[in-house]
Amino acid sequence: MKRKEYDADVIIAGAGMGGLSAAAFLVNDGYRVLVLEKSHVAGGCSSSYYRKGYIFESGATTLIGFDQHQPLRLLEDKLGITIPKIPLIPSMTVHMGNKKIIRWQDRKMWIEEAVKHFGEPIEQKRFWELAFKVSDVVWKVSASNPFFPPAGVPDWLRLLNNNPLDVWVLPYVLESVRETAVSKGITNPEFFRFLDEQLMISAQSPSFDTPFLFGAPAITYTNYTNYYVPGGLIEMIKTITGFIKKNNGRVLTREGVTSIEKENDSYHVRTSAYKSYKAKALISNIPVWNMAEITSGKMLKYFHKESLRYERAWGAFTMGIVTDDVYPENLSLHHQLHFDHDIRIPGIESGSVFVSISDINDQKRAKTGERVLNVSTHAFPDFWFQLNGNYEIVKKNAEKKIVSHLRAKLPGFSGAEIKLLFSSTPVTWSNWVYRKKGRVGGIPQSMTRSLLDWTPNQTPFPGLFLCGDTVFPGQGIPGVTLSGFNVYLRAVKHLKNILNH
Ligand SMILES: Cc1cc2nc3c(=O)[nH]c(=O)nc-3n(C[C@H](O)[C@H](O)[C@H](O)COP(=O)(O)OP(=O)(O)OC[C@H]3O[C@@H](n4cnc5c(N)ncnc54)[C@H](O)[C@@H]3O)c2cc1C
Repeated sequence: MKRKEYDADVIIAGAGMGGLSAAAFLVNDGYRVLVLEKSHVAGGCSSSYYRKGYIFESGATTLIGFDQHQPLRLLEDKLGITIPKIPLIPSMTVHMGNKKIIRWQDRKMWIEEAVKHFGEPIEQKRFWELAFKVSDVVWKVSASNPFFPPAGVPDWLRLLNNNPLDVWVLPYVLESVRETAVSKGITNPEFFRFLDEQLMISAQSPSFDTPFLFGAPAITYTNYTNYYVPGGLIEMIKTITGFIKKNNGRVLTREGVTSIEKENDSYHVRTSAYKSYKAKALISNIPVWNMAEITSGKMLKYFHKESLRYERAWGAFTMGIVTDDVYPENLSLHHQLHFDHDIRIPGIESGSVFVSISDINDQKRAKTGERVLNVSTHAFPDFWFQLNGNYEIVKKNAEKKIVSHLRAKLPGFSGAEIKLLFSSTPVTWSNWVYRKKGRVGGIPQSMTRSLLDWTPNQTPFPGLFLCGDTVFPGQGIPGVTLSGFNVYLRAVKHLKNILNH
């Protein structure tokens, strides 16, 4: 095979954390990689943007994944890079009625805190100790099974290498988080509401519909080390793109992939910059829903079928706010603020809002004396796309209601001077990270989907692979980083196979 006929060994479509991780692992092994990103900036939903002198997070604000067996630990260790970050204690505060529930990282302190607010000490202890155990096994097992879901006999055989002592967690795929809590004797309905809202921001699904196997890592993510990236998550993205470029990879922004075609053993990609590129393999970090729009023939059929399986997905209503620095000393940087039961906001489909505040010493994001807030909550994408003439009115109403919620619940905010405020709906999101209908946050976990029922990273088209939060292992920065690692191994296997023929 003549290397020069190709623009790269692997083209990566989309520079979200999934695609960038795959690219970084590939260049580290000496492969020629070309990353094509539609936006003017890399990072997608885990990046930052500059507006009127301030830096806002584009989507994600909480960061875990650097502890033992976790994907960002693997990324840093394998590449020899260090993402700039500072650990956060506590991880988060949940405001529920008059309760201020502090999500301590320390497991013993957290169980004591849960008991303080929800009672039932023996039952709470049993539940959380099980959740920690299952979660630790899930992280360990997912790190050692990069070829899951299996895409052929060799992948099935690899599963035999797993430690039989870990198999005990598997039945928890059939039991919901709510069922597990009840089986441990928990009866407090307030605790179930707490679980629902915590799971909505991690598993995208409430406790009765989240299998405990996935729900355990989701409800315990505050019990691993949580980090803050000074300057915003764009600094994490810059570290990774810097590594890719230093190792002769290319990351081209403002080059949206407009078509993907298979030509014999290679992939031919056209972009919005009227350019075309050819590579031996293609990794798509573009959500499965979007793939049908840029493929044709059998590929289109495949992606159309896959995306129909995941029509149920969330959008986000998000806000960027700048205020003067009126917050109590040592206030957590992350807050989940429950709505009181009687609050209904048209266009918002959640029982809470999530607020992240820039670190007091982070002068890149706001000057001394000011703080930047990122606010997010769940929304139905279709609702916002169907508003037509009412769109601005409904958006302003949601903004107003959320601000009055912050005034009532977020410590310090009642006296804050708002210096800048703007909001984004699923319509904004679809024009920003180009995700169909502004669906973000990945595929919600569900009791109705089996472990093997996820879109796999290997497609039926040799050399075409998928990563990101619409394929296994799912959402969040750690999930998509792991997907980047898994797909890198698949791509390397494919490239080696071609070389041997
Ligand atoms: C509001 C919000 C809050 C969140 N909070 C957290 C959190 O606190 N912690 C956490 O871990 N996770 C959080 N998440 C989830 C997390 O951000 C995502 O799951 C993850 O970043 C998705 O990464 P990805 O690589 O799959 O996709 P994306 O980040 O969407 O990246 C895909 C990339 O592909 C590009 N693209 C799209 N179409 C094309 C095309 N045709 N050609 C070329 N490029 C294209 C996009 O511009 C984008 O850069 C949050 C998400 C949202 C929306």
